[in-house]
Amino acid sequence: MSRLKRITVVGASLAGLRAVQTLRREGFDGEITLVGAETHLPYNRPPLSKSVLRGDDDVALPGAEELGDQWLRGRRAVRLDVRERTVGLDDGTEIGHDGLVIATGARPRRLDGAHRLRTIDDALALRARLDSGHEHVLVIGGGFIGGEVASTARQLGRKVTLVDAAPYPMRAGLGEDAARWLAAHHERNGVELVTNARVTAVSGGRVHLADGRSIAADLVVGGMGVTPNTEWLDGSGLTTDDGVLCLPTLFARGAGDIVAAGDVARWPHGLFGGETVRVEHWSNANEQGAIAARNLLAGPENATPFLDVPNHATHVHGARIQTAGLPHLADAASIVTGSPEDDRFAVAFTRDGVLVGAVAVNSPKDVVRLKRAITARETL
Ligand SMILES: Cc1cc2nc3c(=O)[nH]c(=O)nc-3n(C[C@H](O)[C@H](O)[C@H](O)COP(=O)(O)OP(=O)(O)OC[C@H]3O[C@@H](n4cnc5c(N)ncnc54)[C@H](O)[C@@H]3O)c2cc1C
Repeated sequence: MSRLKRITVVGASLAGLRAVQTLRREGFDGEITLVGAETHLPYNRPPLSKSVLRGDDDVALPGAEELGDQWLRGRRAVRLDVRERTVGLDDGTEIGHDGLVIATGARPRRLDGAHRLRTIDDALALRARLDSGHEHVLVIGGGFIGGEVASTARQLGRKVTLVDAAPYPMRAGLGEDAARWLAAHHERNGVELVTNARVTAVSGGRVHLADGRSIAADLVVGGMGVTPNTEWLDGSGLTTDDGVLCLPTLFARGAGDIVAAGDVARWPHGLFGGETVRVEHWSNANEQGAIAARNLLAGPENATPFLDVPNHATHVHGARIQTAGLPHLADAASIVTGSPEDDRFAVAFTRDGVLVGAVAVNSPKDVVRLKRAITARETL
């Protein structure tokens, strides 16, 4: 029998849904209240920058349709009282709990005049603009989402310009070799790259850069990173700093009855020397939703640390780019198979000689092998 009777899950997307499913699967038969700001059934976000823009609306997340009246949709949590164990909603309701899962994810940084892409509504609005014949698409930020939007817009026959602040898009996440290759790959596929450039404003059909230049565009899409949704926790006593600060077990620091999961959680990762990380990948939200729920039921003293190695995959102009671990922590990197000239290679990243990350381009077997080696903390 669980010591918990009422559990509230805030955030009805991937991590929140997995938490609810896991609570039931683990035999929790108390009351669950799921609070979600969106009105749609929980859905998959990865297709939003890919197939949805090309006209395919399938974003279903298995199991979402089974959520019953335990789900309060279109309702936003605005306050947490840790001592009273209540969550306050935007309609004034207070919901009591004796266990809480925080799964409020993240939202894109805003820039007036630029489309954002986080929700299905954002994707459908962007698709409508693409379909209405906007010829020149300018994407700000060459990260995973910006790169995918650029790739999809090229597939749709649009002229595309990609503006990025770094010398090569994704240099921080992919390292020098793969980022140089990606820049060339974008250009070979007809994307005009404008790098080392910071956008200051979008106005009058032009994108203005910090160096005084401006570029005309019919449609501007922003992919400038995200901010974790933690404002509703201000004043609660929980520590937030680019996410909810957690223990290795995903319990919020200083709270034995609150866990966090997914894009909103920051925790010290045991495989990477306790470095605190926040991971914005599908598989992380999927696994953390489940582990956080299991740990909440087990209690802090019986909880297990979350040690999964982050991994991510994207398709850009037909190439498959995969990452594992945390390449940005590395102090050295080397190509271990293939070569960028052949559009097929893998890079291993080490810190003090120990593998901490991998990037593979059109080389899926290598990323599986390297991910295993990262988990085993192998040296190169
Ligand atoms: C366009 C796009 C493409 C992507 N592609 C990939 C990919 O190819 N591969 C990959 O690994 N990852 C990808 N991702 C990232 C992946 O989708 C996220 O890591 C994942 O959705 C995180 O899930 P989450 O449940 O933690 O948070 P979210 O999905 O952000 O969900 C949080 C939910 O909480 C709600 N919420 C926020 N605040 C409150 C509040 N105060 N009260 C109530 N509800 C609240 C939000 O409305 C939202 O529904 C992509 C993301 C986007 C946007």
